[in-house]
Amino acid sequence: MSVATAARRIFRALGTLCFPPYCAACKSATGPGIHLCAGCAETVRHIVPPFCERCSQPFDGAITQAFTCPNCADRDVHFECAVAAFRSHGVVRDFIHDFKYNGQRHLLRPLADWLAHTLDDPRISSRPFDAFVPVPLHHIRFREREFNQAAELATLVSQRCGVPVLHALKRTRHTSTQTKLDRAERMENLRGAFLVRHIAGVKERHLVLVDDVFTTGSTVEECSRVLMRAGAASVRVITVARG
Ligand SMILES: [Zn+2]
Ligand SMILES: [Zn+2]
Repeated sequence: MSVATAARRIFRALGTLCFPPYCAACKSATGPGIHLCAGCAETVRHIVPPFCERCSQPFDGAITQAFTCPNCADRDVHFECAVAAFRSHGVVRDFIHDFKYNGQRHLLRPLADWLAHTLDDPRISSRPFDAFVPVPLHHIRFREREFNQAAELATLVSQRCGVPVLHALKRTRHTSTQTKLDRAERMENLRGAFLVRHIAGVKERHLVLVDDVFTTGSTVEECSRVLMRAGAASVRVITVARG
């Protein structure tokens, strides 16, 4: 066997290891680079109009013009819009969870593919921006998890569209888990949890904040607030999924 053939085989084996040729949800056989079989792909819920222009909350019914939901109307938010193409449900929710908590790092690729859909949304594509800013993890959590899912997602979408990643934020407080808190309690819990580490880098810049999932929006709102206070020109948000 020539050196070139051996090298090719090793690369192929490594590729299969990183991107196994089976459905990541039901384990049925697919092709190389295909992460979901047709059956599982069909269960993914797209966010389709009508939805809130600001937070992408979908609504039933026949609303044809742009609108903001009651949730956003009575709230002074610092991001222009939070865009997600999918609901946090079924396979999408499972992939985010397995990627974050169960060490299934190969799921980064399908998650980044889903995140990349947001770049085609007119709320993002109609106006250029200067940098992607990942929502940071506190260093204690980073040590436990060994990676920041938002930073990894931001790096992949950055490679696709050529806009740089700016690690502009630092998480200064290790907040307790937010899942049992309501929106007001979450906001209170997050106050002072983030600071801007490169004020000169964000000043007058148009930024796109990146996170894995938008639930109540408290985390991205607190990040947007500190970025705007540091002089950012605008903050828009993209996430893989929306609760
Ligand atoms: Zn499947
Ligand atoms: Zn809304």
